[in-house]
Amino acid sequence: MKDVLIFGSSGSIGKSSLDFLSKHEEFRIKGLCVNRDIQTLKKQIDKFRPGYVCVVDEAQAEKLRKVLSPKVRFFKGESGLKEFSAIESDISLMAISGISSLVPLLINIGYTKRVALANKEAIVIAGSLIFSKAKLKNTEIIPVDSEISALFQLFMRKYDEFEKVYLTASGGALRNYPESDLLRITAKEVLAHPNWSMGQRITVDSATLVNKAFEVIETHRFFDIDYNNIDVILHRESIVHAMVEYRDKTVFSCLYPPNMSIPISYAFFYPSRVMSVKGLSFEKGLKLSFEPVDYTRYPLLETIIKTAKKEDNGLAVLNACDEVTVDYFLRDKIKFPEIAGVLKYFSKKYPSAIIKNVEDVFYWDRWAREKTKEYLEKLC
Ligand code: MG
Repeated sequence: MKDVLIFGSSGSIGKSSLDFLSKHEEFRIKGLCVNRDIQTLKKQIDKFRPGYVCVVDEAQAEKLRKVLSPKVRFFKGESGLKEFSAIESDISLMAISGISSLVPLLINIGYTKRVALANKEAIVIAGSLIFSKAKLKNTEIIPVDSEISALFQLFMRKYDEFEKVYLTASGGALRNYPESDLLRITAKEVLAHPNWSMGQRITVDSATLVNKAFEVIETHRFFDIDYNNIDVILHRESIVHAMVEYRDKTVFSCLYPPNMSIPISYAFFYPSRVMSVKGLSFEKGLKLSFEPVDYTRYPLLETIIKTAKKEDNGLAVLNACDEVTVDYFLRDKIKFPEIAGVLKYFSKKYPSAIIKNVEDVFYWDRWAREKTKEYLEKLC
């Protein structure tokens, strides 16, 4: 029996993972943690009966505490989250979104044997802090992001003599819109992703390819691959998630349907594979297409990777800037193409500094949030 902690159990990955774990008796849910969605959490508590529960939002935490059995150990607020992160487990799923995952992740690495990592911001901004702590504590980090999971699975078979890796991008919800239409696009249209059902920010980030840029950085950090050897190609069907080209030019690819069930099951059962209910069907035929990415249509892919190569505070700045800007777009305060404009502006304007520790990450995160808000308020 393996004890599991879930960080971010009310989000899309958290819910899918619990659904998966409910079908496998090898796992016991030891603890559940959410930011503020106590309605979803309450249902999960009734079903999985965890011994430990954490709610980060203090007001919501108080509401839940009143209806919770006294047998459950309850944690609340930022300090509660830190204590919850120090509970021992066999596997932790880190599915808290954004940079708020960084502190619990770094603490938890010391108390779990394996982190199934669904969050990408922490790796993008503070990858070296995370991987050096994981090495020190002998903790495995298994990616849950579909493209990175695909590469992880490909590299399980062979990790040498490769020349290039390819990540695929669906192109997001706006891929069929002419560029001239992008100014009048609403948040609702962007949120209607053709292949994936995900959180709001990541769905907008898929339409701007900010998400893909982050995955390029994840690939660089996870597998120590030079940026020049990582390529992105447009693949509308989201069936092929990644490909590896070896020295002799043979290309291996990893295919599965566009939902998170395989990356989730692989992260929990690795290195074994379990029976999956639904896979690809070839009975009616299956067409796969690949196109080069149009970098002028998706300018942020280049902007973010260029910033990543500087290995400074730039990614902490651009991540925060993107989160704030996307939020303004979702509230209809700015137009879709302005997202790229704002990020490009900050990619040129931030004062470059080295990130040495977690405090530096949060300093630059706050700095960028403030500056982006000031900038956007003038713009609106
Ligand atoms: Mg992905």
